[in-house]
Amino acid sequence: MPFCPECHQEPDLGARCPLCGLFYRERRCPECGWEVFPRETFCGACGVELGSRALAQVHAPMLPAGIGRRVVATCFDLVVLVLITELLQVTLLPSPWVSVLIGGLLYYGTFQARGRQTLGQYVLRLTALTSERYPLKLAQSLLRSLLGALSWALVIPPLLALRDPQRRTPVDRLLKVQVYLTP
Ligand SMILES: [Zn+2]
Ligand SMILES: [Zn+2]
Repeated sequence: MPFCPECHQEPDLGARCPLCGLFYRERRCPECGWEVFPRETFCGACGVELGSRALAQVHAPMLPAGIGRRVVATCFDLVVLVLITELLQVTLLPSPWVSVLIGGLLYYGTFQARGRQTLGQYVLRLTALTSERYPLKLAQSLLRSLLGALSWALVIPPLLALRDPQRRTPVDRLLKVQVYLTP
């Protein structure tokens, strides 16, 4: 039976726990593959001691998001980013470059942390998660946004995502992050 890795609640509907926002997981014996419960210490089938060795996999299958969807999401987000930049420029930060950098970091960094989505990602049902499908921590998400912005300044690195089988940019490969299509 799948369960939430945080509160151990069993699924009702959907792929995520409504309380914690985490994806449901299944735990299996590493020796025989038998499904075991969150708190079980020994495998019910072969009797082996599980400890932390029991494999937890995400219950619902999730696919890496394609490039097309991500480009459309980026177009939505650029509109939001222009508005944020304009707002920062007339209120706090007169320099346009500083406004773009701070606005971009705040928008992309905070909205993709903790399993949340940017507007474009929400519309196109995308979520950025770690390769084990845990939400990004705030610091991790801010770092990813900063490195992403730097790599876009060089133009070529983000385009390498086209050659990656899972469509990850070099920054996402480095930070072990994947943009998924949410079920
Ligand atoms: Zn939960
Ligand atoms: Zn077993």
